[in-house]
Amino acid sequence: MDATLLSKYDVAAPRYTSYPTVPYWSGDHNVANGWPLQVKDAFKADPQISLYLHLPFCESLCTYCGCNKHITKNHAVESPYIEALLQEWHMYLRILGKAPVIKELHLGGGTPTFFHPDNLRQLLDGILSEAIIPDNADFSFEAHPNSTSREHLQAL
Ligand code: SF4
Repeated sequence: MDATLLSKYDVAAPRYTSYPTVPYWSGDHNVANGWPLQVKDAFKADPQISLYLHLPFCESLCTYCGCNKHITKNHAVESPYIEALLQEWHMYLRILGKAPVIKELHLGGGTPTFFHPDNLRQLLDGILSEAIIPDNADFSFEAHPNSTSREHLQAL
């Protein structure tokens, strides 16, 4: 074990699941108030967007997990969460002012296949129906084999 390497990387760092990364939300970098403007400016410069949708629920905890997750077997959490995501999507559509081109869409978690296929369909229909999808769009999802059915695969 190299002690120099250990001490070099033994620092607090933001996780990829937060964007803008945590240090940018306070102090000199405070983007909270200017965020809609930054989104709009970036969209003007490039009308193609990439979306990451975080679906944070899992039925059981993996001991190595470092993800932002919520462990529950209560599937009543699904619908309110999907509705909240679609509300946020509509907020972004208002900021953008026109239908964006979605070149990438990634579902992560948590376990996206914790959600019922009908709820995943509702989420994706709500997003894709108000966007332009190019032929070479890149879509992906994370799944757990124990909770992924044929219906999930068909929906996704
Ligand atoms: S399935 Fe993934 S997100 Fe859920 S507890 Fe395991 S490692 Fe964490």
